[in-house]
Amino acid sequence: MRLVRFRFGDRIATGSLADGFVRPLRGTFFEDPVPSGEELPLEQVRLLAPVIPSKVVCVGKNYLEHAEEMGDNVPEEPVIFLKPSTAVIGPEDAIPRPPWSERVDHEGELGIVIGRLARHVKAEDAGRVALGYTCGNDVTARDLQAKDGQWTRAKSFDGFCPLGPWIETELDPTDVAVECRVNGETRQAARTSQLAFGPGELIEFITRVMTLLPGDVILTGTPAGVGPLEVGDKVEVEVEGVGVLQNEVVAGA
Ligand code: MG
Repeated sequence: MRLVRFRFGDRIATGSLADGFVRPLRGTFFEDPVPSGEELPLEQVRLLAPVIPSKVVCVGKNYLEHAEEMGDNVPEEPVIFLKPSTAVIGPEDAIPRPPWSERVDHEGELGIVIGRLARHVKAEDAGRVALGYTCGNDVTARDLQAKDGQWTRAKSFDGFCPLGPWIETELDPTDVAVECRVNGETRQAARTSQLAFGPGELIEFITRVMTLLPGDVILTGTPAGVGPLEVGDKVEVEVEGVGVLQNEVVAGA
């Protein structure tokens, strides 16, 4: 099933999406949502980021070829960092390119959306806490990442975490294609089977550190081929079996 958050007129709600129609749900995704019985044509709604997470947990250097292009190897344990919830934007929203950075990169990634409170979850049980999967773009101010020696500023600008366009609940995430295109040109392409640490291992590792809340998102790492975004670029992240997340880059403040 595809789960969406959307705006319809003044109303913001959740729903399921099939056959070109959004069917609104009463309640959240996380507490036995009930269909309201309405049907709205997809073209009459504006899709929003599918969740508002309390935090986005990201994984660095989780594809060997990307670790190598960063002059490094895959770490022995996952390297995790956070993006703030205020960085999250939805499909078709603009990515502001801050003038503070001279090099803003795309990082297309598979996103895991957490469906229930999760603490000390074993890898084999990880599927039970994942609500589903989405596309994410871990937008990064590469020059500031290098300059600061840690990643908070570089990863946290408003708009640096596009998510969407929806959550696909019926996906085996262990071997799907992840691709990032800029103005139609493929920049990054890999399969999640190439992840050094797969979704189950990541959920086990992260929930040994912190409690994940319903709606939290894990961005699983980016393939090789990261590169710069300029104002006016259209960037697409596609996860096979999920869909395509598209955003345009605009001049930021
Ligand atoms: Mg990343």
